[in-house]
Amino acid sequence: LCRLGRERDDDGFERRPIQMTSEVATTFKKDIRIGVEGLIGCTPLMKIKSLSEATGCEILAKVEMMNPGGSAKDRIALAIVERAEAEGLLRPNSGDVVYEGTSGSTGISLAMICRAKGYRAHICLPDDTSAEKVDLLEKLGAEVEKVPPASIVDRRQYVNRARARANERNSDESIEGRGLFADQFENEANWKAHYDHTGPEIYKQTGGQVDIIVMGAGTGGTISGVSRYLKPLLPNLKVVLADPPGSGLYNKVKYGVMFDIKEREGTRRRHQVDTLVEGIGINRVTRNFDVGRRLVDDAIRVTDEEALAMAKFLVEHDGLFVGSSTAVNCVAAAKYALKTGPGHTIVTMICDSGTRHLSKFWKAVGPISGELGTSSLEDILDFSST
Ligand code: PMP
Repeated sequence: LCRLGRERDDDGFERRPIQMTSEVATTFKKDIRIGVEGLIGCTPLMKIKSLSEATGCEILAKVEMMNPGGSAKDRIALAIVERAEAEGLLRPNSGDVVYEGTSGSTGISLAMICRAKGYRAHICLPDDTSAEKVDLLEKLGAEVEKVPPASIVDRRQYVNRARARANERNSDESIEGRGLFADQFENEANWKAHYDHTGPEIYKQTGGQVDIIVMGAGTGGTISGVSRYLKPLLPNLKVVLADPPGSGLYNKVKYGVMFDIKEREGTRRRHQVDTLVEGIGINRVTRNFDVGRRLVDDAIRVTDEEALAMAKFLVEHDGLFVGSSTAVNCVAAAKYALKTGPGHTIVTMICDSGTRHLSKFWKAVGPISGELGTSSLEDILDFSST
């Protein structure tokens, strides 16, 4: 649609500008999106040329960074707010406040949607969250509350703080406006947004020709929603989790338990490894991850070194500047492609752009070579980590 006003070649690409007259213009259907909400979803599906050439598979990525808030979280922020409106829990311009505990993109998406729909947003985040994200939240008019970084006892203090703030507001009758705890981990509007939109979009955009889906999970909403939609339509589809260091999901998928059963003579020890990757990996089974039996068939572990090298590889070969979770997705997609052999169609996600990760992940990537396309895929994948 964005190519309106251009003529179509036989190969389907619209290249030559059309001589536009008022008669020609009336032959087009009006194409107007209503507000920022209208820009959410229907993201393009992009073939990643370098990875496809190197593996012999068609490696496709849903470009979620093209949502107006810069990530797939726009989809769930809209779904959570619309569901609360339908249930009468939120009324526009009546002083209602949406609370969420997040160090990531969900806060940014909620702040944006709340502004557009007449609500206030109150975002609780760990006080070591990157300055870029805090700035962006404040510029979107969100109230930002910094909470001490997650402790070992309670790694999600900021989520609990957001829940408590919403409860405080609702228990005090003298305060104007209700509080809604968005609760992205447990709120089932999350996976349903991906079941209703992301899954059908992938099906349509590939003409139903997908063999493998590969992606990481934070709340689990994306992988579960997409899998639950596509599996009944594509009985041979394999859904593969990409998991960063420190996450327990790999073991959950492979062995059915969250803990590393191979470590310490069978004692149940949680992984506690630091990673530069943000947004994916978790040590508990959320309601959004566990929304049906056998939605995830296999898992691949990805090291930070692989993710850093992949981020660099994608810039050097494709001019594609991605965030850390996307780099993990692309490592796992390439590994799975090499494992299954050429000829398969693999779909993954470009969750957000590298601009959100400049001060942490991209700082660790190091300099980009002035030489064009120097590294090879084999140089950056570590099969001993899988
Ligand atoms: N990438 C990024 C950058 C994210 O913030 C998240 C969500 N926290 C994900 C990927 C994973 O998506 P989901 O929560 O649906 O599992």
